[in-house]
Amino acid sequence: MELLDIHTHHLSTEPGQAIQNVFPADFAPRPNQYYSVGYHPWYLSKDGSEDWQLLNEIIANPQVLAVGEAGLDKVTEVDYSIQHIAFERQVAMAIQVHKPLVIHCVRSYNEVVELKKALKPTNPWIIHGFRGKKELAKQLTDHGIYLSYGFKFQEEALRTTPLNMLFLETDESDLDIHLLYQQVADHLSLSVSELTERVQENISNVFFSNKSCLFK
Ligand SMILES: [Zn+2]
Repeated sequence: MELLDIHTHHLSTEPGQAIQNVFPADFAPRPNQYYSVGYHPWYLSKDGSEDWQLLNEIIANPQVLAVGEAGLDKVTEVDYSIQHIAFERQVAMAIQVHKPLVIHCVRSYNEVVELKKALKPTNPWIIHGFRGKKELAKQLTDHGIYLSYGFKFQEEALRTTPLNMLFLETDESDLDIHLLYQQVADHLSLSVSELTERVQENISNVFFSNKSCLFK
């Protein structure tokens, strides 16, 4: 399995090497490409008129490995209660299809943890683009929430994250994911192949738990 990058907004050159994040209206699956699909909190409508039926249909597609990114953001201008409704809706949808939830979280960690404690979801939750400090990394992973790191991160948080709860992603960056594996491996005093093996084990457990291996 060559899948290394669990969250990118770019069309990966080689299908199957990254999970490409798209909005529901832009979902036009290419052969052998993996996707995550959801409504990002920044782009929610004021009246909650997202096409939930469309999203429901899309997330049933086997090429869609995760629901998201969905989430809560206290810095964006979108009304927080509207974000809450859309987030909880996608939380429920992800649970229903037994697929991981990719979470965009800005200054809303307590809300996410409280929701997870209340719902006890059976699907994995992943905070993507995690840039928080080590205390927060510990708190989240103690609650069973996975962390995905991009090129900007706190080294101590990275080192605090259990290796079985770690993912890597390029997100909006144009840089090569292999560069990130190299940087992270250096910080963790691992070889790139050891790190790759550990992360791919996580990818297989979390994103492919109910599939044998989709494209092989
Ligand atoms: Zn993103």
